[in-house]
Amino acid sequence: MRKKIVAGNWKMNLTLAQGEQLINDILQAGLKLQDGQEVVVATPFPYLLKAKSLLKNNPGFYLAAQNVASEKSGAYTGEVSAEMLKSVGVDYVIIGHSERREYFLESNAALAKKIDLSLANGLKPIFCCGEPLEIRKAETQNDYVAKQLEESLYHLSAEQLKDVVIAYEPIWAIGTGLTASAGQAQDMHAFIRSQIAAKYGREAALHVSILYGGSAKPSNAEELFASPDVDGGLIGGASLVAADFVAIIQKLA
Ligand code: PEP
Repeated sequence: MRKKIVAGNWKMNLTLAQGEQLINDILQAGLKLQDGQEVVVATPFPYLLKAKSLLKNNPGFYLAAQNVASEKSGAYTGEVSAEMLKSVGVDYVIIGHSERREYFLESNAALAKKIDLSLANGLKPIFCCGEPLEIRKAETQNDYVAKQLEESLYHLSAEQLKDVVIAYEPIWAIGTGLTASAGQAQDMHAFIRSQIAAKYGREAALHVSILYGGSAKPSNAEELFASPDVDGGLIGGASLVAADFVAIIQKLA
């Protein structure tokens, strides 16, 4: 059975005190996670150690970084390596978020290097893919996403792929209030799973968790998560409000 995951991406928001409060509020909400359900919190780098200390004795709760360097170590001022993230207790790392692709010009090839270094250091990548609006309008989103998968993931072995989570995040839905319909999300998730099956076989495809991201909120999470190929969500804005994030987690099937 594949994991069902709700991951919160705080992006560049909150002070340390606000982040601490948010995690404490989530932990105190009395969530009863079922077997195979996970909650992931992706904090800014400076808060990772503190967040780990808050999350660590709570089964089902995991820590993520929002980015990782594409180089192993050395003279890369301002970068944070996979080995460093592992050393402070990080479990997951978001790779290829559309904001990183757009504002920091991260290429599919650079993302492939980040994935390799993450896996080599025992971190699980949450690999983001998804099309911009003009591609959706031209109805070429499947080709677009297939290329992202091919160029950043398909060099991995089937064994390595087991530690990768995929997040489908249509760029036109991120932070815009526009959400993909449950039908649009399901269609793309089923397409992604079919691509993984074609490359790695049916077993591998059935095992990979595919999260939806893009203006998910308590009011639409249930319908999105009810789709058979949607295994949870990567949540931006709504992960900053404990009550909303908790309500979304409670919609996991
Ligand atoms: C995200 O940044 O990954 C995201 C899905 O953001 P939002 O939920 O705010 O659209």
